[in-house]
Order: sequence, then C-alpha cells, then structure tokens
Amino acid sequence: MQAETTTMENKVQAAWNKRPLIISGPCSAETEEQVVETAQRLAQTGKVDVLRSGIWKPRTRPGSFEGIGTKGLPWLQHARKVTGLLTAVEVATAKQVEDALHFDVDILWVGARTTVNPFSVQEIADALRGVKVPVLIKNPINPDLELWIGAVERIAKAGINDIGLIHRGFSSYGNTEYRNAPMWHLAIEMKRRNPELLMINDPSHICGRRDILQEVAQKAIDLDFDGLIIESHIDPDNAWSDAKQQITPERLGEMLNSIIWRREDIPSEEYHAALDKLRAQINHLDDELMQILGQRMKVAEKIGQYKKDNNITILQTARWNEILDRAFKKGEKMGLSKEFITKYFDAVHLESINHQTKVFNS
Ligand code: PEP
Ligand code: MN
Repeated sequence: MQAETTTMENKVQAAWNKRPLIISGPCSAETEEQVVETAQRLAQTGKVDVLRSGIWKPRTRPGSFEGIGTKGLPWLQHARKVTGLLTAVEVATAKQVEDALHFDVDILWVGARTTVNPFSVQEIADALRGVKVPVLIKNPINPDLELWIGAVERIAKAGINDIGLIHRGFSSYGNTEYRNAPMWHLAIEMKRRNPELLMINDPSHICGRRDILQEVAQKAIDLDFDGLIIESHIDPDNAWSDAKQQITPERLGEMLNSIIWRREDIPSEEYHAALDKLRAQINHLDDELMQILGQRMKVAEKIGQYKKDNNITILQTARWNEILDRAFKKGEKMGLSKEFITKYFDAVHLESINHQTKVFNS
C-alpha cells in the first residue's frame, strides 16, 4: 500500500512537471461506459496525461443536468485503473473535496463560478488542510485578477504547494465570437505576477464551439502556457452538457498533432544575438514614442492654458471625433487595427485631459 501510494505520488508529480500538460475528458460524467470509453480512447492518442470529468455541475440556470454526483467517482477510479490516466474533478464544497479524495482523484480544480466566492474558496481551502493534492484554480467569471489571486492565496495558506491556474475566459454581455472572452492580457498579467504557478489554457470554455478551439489552443501555446484542458466526449453532439464545444478523443489527437509546439528559449548564440538586436530596436522605438508622447502632452497643456484664458471647456466632442477619424484612416495604412487605435487614442486623450485639468486648476 505504502509503495503504491509513493508510485502514484511520483506519477502525479511527473505529470505536474510535464510540458505541455494535457488534460481532457467529458464536461460531465454521464455513465460508467462513457467515462471508461472516453478514457480508453484518450489514452490511445498517447498525448493525454489527465482525465478530466465534471461530477457536480454548477449550471447557470436550474433544470439542466447538474452532474451525476458522488456515484460517478468510482467510474473515474475504474477509468484510471484501466488506462493509467490520472484523474481531475471540479470541487465546490468541503463534502465534494472529501468525496473526491476518498475515490483517489489525483488533481482537484476550483471552477470559475466558485473562484468568485471567497466563502466557497475558503471552505475548500479548509477541507484541504493537511492534504497533499495539486489544485488548479480557474479564473473567476468576471475579469478581476484580485479575486483570482485571493483564491490562490487561500488555497496556498491551507498548505497546498502544487497550485496551477486555468485561464477559461471571462463572461461578457452581448454576442461575441467566444462563449467567454479570452482577455489574453489578464492571463498574461496573472502569469507575470505569479511566474511560479502552472498556467493552463481552457479553449473549450473560452470558445463554446468546436471550430475555433484549435486557434485558441495555438495562441495559448504561442504565449508560453504550460498546458491545455480540453473537453472531449465519445458522442459530442449528444453530450448531456456543453455539447457544442466537445470533440471526440480522436479529433483531440489530431488537433494536438497539428499544434505547433513552441519553446520559450533556445540555447543558441546566433539566435540570441539576432533577438537582442531586434529587441534593441524595440527599446529605441519605445523611447522615441515616449519622448513624442511627452511633447504631445506639453502641447496639450498649452492648449489647456489657451482654453482656460478664454473660458472654453476642456472636452470638445467634435474635435475628438475628428482626431479619431484621422487616426483610423492613418492607422489602417500603417497596419494598425481599429481596436488598437481606439484603445490607444482613448488612453492618450485621457492623459491629455488630465494634463489640461491640472492647468485649469493651477
Ligand atoms: C467545466 O470545466 O466543465 C466548467 C464548469 O468550467 P468553468 O468553471 O470554467 O465554467
Ligand atoms: Mn463544461
């Protein structure tokens, strides 16, 4: 028993350190046959490390399938035994933590709807005290890094050493091409602030549909994510939850085959010399941009003084529209997207207004 425990612990550690770490499996466990067959077909791809499965499903609206519950845990145990895949389950309460651990689940994850609630995260953390199990924490459904970090801190304070992050996108109102907007900059900032934590991407819940899974997965790999969690099902169209975004294990295998796996670095002097040269150019251009922006603000201050002397408002909407129109036209020629131009000019405009306000108040 002791020896078996140690072997399993080593296996979990090995998976945790493997790059890319690949997690796949159904959104929800439905039947024992479905769980075991999914696991077998995933194992056959030779590319999957961990079998994921929802057992308790937090659904946005009541009345849809809310998960098979604890009776599905032995099915995962069975799948684990016949395939050698590790298992991962979402937990949202102390009881679920207890049940999952009782049935040897190897990795736990905190879902996006739970990360938003410090009471729930604390309950999970308290249930984990004294336990050695890796925990993945999904981003909260709202774009709030502090909540995500707070959840990491609560789990870490309970003594969990192996903590990872799952970027699953953020809900936004209205139609976008995604189910949950990726807001990549938030994942990048989270990674910058927590470089020691594993960062996994969840294309399934970002996309909500199959046709763009691969491009999102590729983008994550290009951004140096440590792994992917992707939902798979033996009969995706008839899945009891998240049918639109699931793919067969075989399709997953093909997808993982076509992804171009990048490395963060290569130990070649030539490569570094070429990169350093280009980076020097970037630094130089950034310095110039900064100088020009500084000059621009000085001119804005002069305008501010002029407006103040003549008792004119700071904001003049017509002029602002004119600036934006010019910028869109010019930006298009320079290969800059409308989205970028809008964000950039919003920031510059706001800074200008702040400079002018200072002049008004002085
Ligand atoms: C899931 O992984 O099936 C799930 C419920 O995801 P999320 O917490 O990201 O909505
Ligand atoms: Mn799902």
